[in-house]
Amino acid sequence: MRMMVVMKKSHTKEELQEVLDHLKDNGLGAHMSVGVERTVIGVLGSIYPELAEELEAFPGVEETVPITRPYKLAGRELKPQDTVIKVGNVTIGGGSVVVMAGECSVESEEQMMATARLVKEVGGHILRGGAFKPRTSPHAFRGLGEDGLRILAAAKAETGLPIVTEVMDTRDVDVVASYADILQIGTRNAQNYYLLDEVGHCGKPVLLKRGMASTVEDWLLCAEYILARGNGQVILCERGIRTFETGTRFTLDVSAIPLAKRLSHLPVVADPSHGTGRWYLVEPMSLAAVAAGADGLMLEIHPNPDRALSDGAQSLKFENFRTLMQRLSVMGEAIGRPLERV
Ligand code: PEP
Ligand code: MN
Repeated sequence: MRMMVVMKKSHTKEELQEVLDHLKDNGLGAHMSVGVERTVIGVLGSIYPELAEELEAFPGVEETVPITRPYKLAGRELKPQDTVIKVGNVTIGGGSVVVMAGECSVESEEQMMATARLVKEVGGHILRGGAFKPRTSPHAFRGLGEDGLRILAAAKAETGLPIVTEVMDTRDVDVVASYADILQIGTRNAQNYYLLDEVGHCGKPVLLKRGMASTVEDWLLCAEYILARGNGQVILCERGIRTFETGTRFTLDVSAIPLAKRLSHLPVVADPSHGTGRWYLVEPMSLAAVAAGADGLMLEIHPNPDRALSDGAQSLKFENFRTLMQRLSVMGEAIGRPLERV
């Protein structure tokens, strides 16, 4: 059983403290959520049967309500209102659509500069590029490491675009956080709980990809790890799951977008590049994801996809990205999900 304690509107500071002390004395943790209307405390730890009655006897307590979902901090029961995340002057989760685009891997400074300029020019909001790359084969290109981060920083300095880039290892969290505006956790590390703990106190927003074999509940519990460490700035990213289908690289689970948004207050973005693995499926799935309520998209683009060091088959050419941005804009205006304006 999980529980939240709803305080009376008129409660005093002392009355709140009494409740917190009672929880602490009984070995329980508390997660405070101070809303405009009400202060609510999420009780963390193993709750004993008499607790509800004990707490309801406190003068400041309005009622206790059981939380039925295993994810307490990521769920809407404790925090019904949407989480909105500010990255530079970009707002994620505020009703508009944010586009994060760039190369799969950072390959060279010149090329990343050209990519960043295009992202900026066509109205993209955040620049992506992998410096630490999780590759299925150890013989494949595994990224430029910190040199790649430096290149991203140079592209940010020129264009003003914030950066999202993957961190794969607890040992790299500090260095990645010193360059990135958003730390990305990849699908292969989505359930690396030590890494989730670590980015939980990095002080930067985290883009959490869905594990390719994770249920939506598993995914929200991964977010819960980050939130439990005090980092409330988590962006969920649906990037496709493994199914029996072989015509696509993964199966982009479009239904998971509105489902995650219904269950969680966190912003949800979609990655149709990894979700399909085919460049020609990226545009239709981008439009579908936004129509389904995605707060943003993560897209791979490349000046010459045939020569990309990773994920060329799913990378959009510049001209196709430009067209996609135009279509997103037209559709977004029609359905009330406009592109974010910065
Ligand atoms: C990526 O964004 O390049 C990447 C490796 O993503 P995923 O973890 O979703 O495969
Ligand atoms: Mn990729």
